[in-house]
Amino acid sequence: MTHPCDLLITNVKIATMQDNGVPYGLIESGAVAVHNGKIVYVGESTKCRYKTNNIIDGSEYLLTPGLIDCHTHLVYGGDRAGEFEQRLQGVSYADIAKAGGGIKSTVKATREAGFDTLFNAAAKRATCLLKEGVTTVEIKSGYGLDLDTELKMLEVANGVGEYLGINVSTTYLGAHALPPEYQNNPDGYIDFVCSTVMPKVAEGQYATCVDVFCESIGFTPEQSQRVFEAAGKLGLKVKAHVEQLSDLKGAVLASQYNALSVDHVEFMNPSDVPSLTKSGTVAVLLPGAFYYLNETQKPPIDAFREHNVPMAVATDLNPGSSPMASLLTAMNMASVFFGLTPEEALAGATVNGAKALGLVTKGVIATGMDADMCLWDVSHPCELAYAINQHRPEQIWIGGKHVVV
Ligand SMILES: [Zn+2]
Repeated sequence: MTHPCDLLITNVKIATMQDNGVPYGLIESGAVAVHNGKIVYVGESTKCRYKTNNIIDGSEYLLTPGLIDCHTHLVYGGDRAGEFEQRLQGVSYADIAKAGGGIKSTVKATREAGFDTLFNAAAKRATCLLKEGVTTVEIKSGYGLDLDTELKMLEVANGVGEYLGINVSTTYLGAHALPPEYQNNPDGYIDFVCSTVMPKVAEGQYATCVDVFCESIGFTPEQSQRVFEAAGKLGLKVKAHVEQLSDLKGAVLASQYNALSVDHVEFMNPSDVPSLTKSGTVAVLLPGAFYYLNETQKPPIDAFREHNVPMAVATDLNPGSSPMASLLTAMNMASVFFGLTPEEALAGATVNGAKALGLVTKGVIATGMDADMCLWDVSHPCELAYAINQHRPEQIWIGGKHVVV
């Protein structure tokens, strides 16, 4: 007996990324059936009992879950290329900052930019990701730091998702930096974030998560805790930028609020890692920022492995410390710099990226999951983390719909 379906992809190797005891959850000669945007069959071709006129012959190529970039700041005004040039001509970062550069310049440019300007630039960046097979992207606010601009950024982010047909997960990152209005009053700014902006974000469903930059040059653990408390009361999930430049124990704090993820984590002490296991928090590795800032301190990968902490890999796409719109390159960097195996790198951009966003129907090719998938002309999944700028998906599906980029 056969069942009808909307789409049948046959003659493919499938890196399901499901934990079935085989590396990459690989199925050698497989088929995937899709109905109403969901995967209804994955397994050996010969056993598939689904039927449709819409059959794709996969030419023995590799099918993977659509890639998930779980940490970006891709909505922003202006750029920082001029500063990059100045720095390489010998101007110090402190002098650039004094002259109104750094994040201040991005905040100014983002506040001044109209919706369309921000939207067009963000759509262009998201398209770079989509062309590489990214079917879900997280986008943070955090360059407005006032009510209107933060909401504008989140509207742009959600709009980009609708326009390109890709899944966008939005995060309110008010506690990213101090705006000029609160320069000497960080606690006052945290009040504003928690009492004025966050309720509006929740009420208007602008974002599902709240993030904070817990760092010596960002916000203290006490201030971060206030953000987590306020988010919890409003039913928003939390994530945190922690331990990027120093060890403030931000990851442990975030885990106490069941954070979906802690991101950067280079300076996290291995002895603190078990706290993440308990809360099911994902460690998000951002090797693009590590590279761009010429850092040397590496995240405690062995401890993450030992304590079964899922590791995700993301681009951190932003104008200051990671202007990199390539998740495949981030996967390669995570392998080269941090020693992830190519399988861990691909898991970081699929199954664990989904966990970092709390998305339970994405990141693996399995029955009942959303049919977000990419078909690659590679003979083995390890090639995706290995090669730089050599692979683009031959085909992309999002929710079972074929996407033309
Ligand atoms: Zn970031």
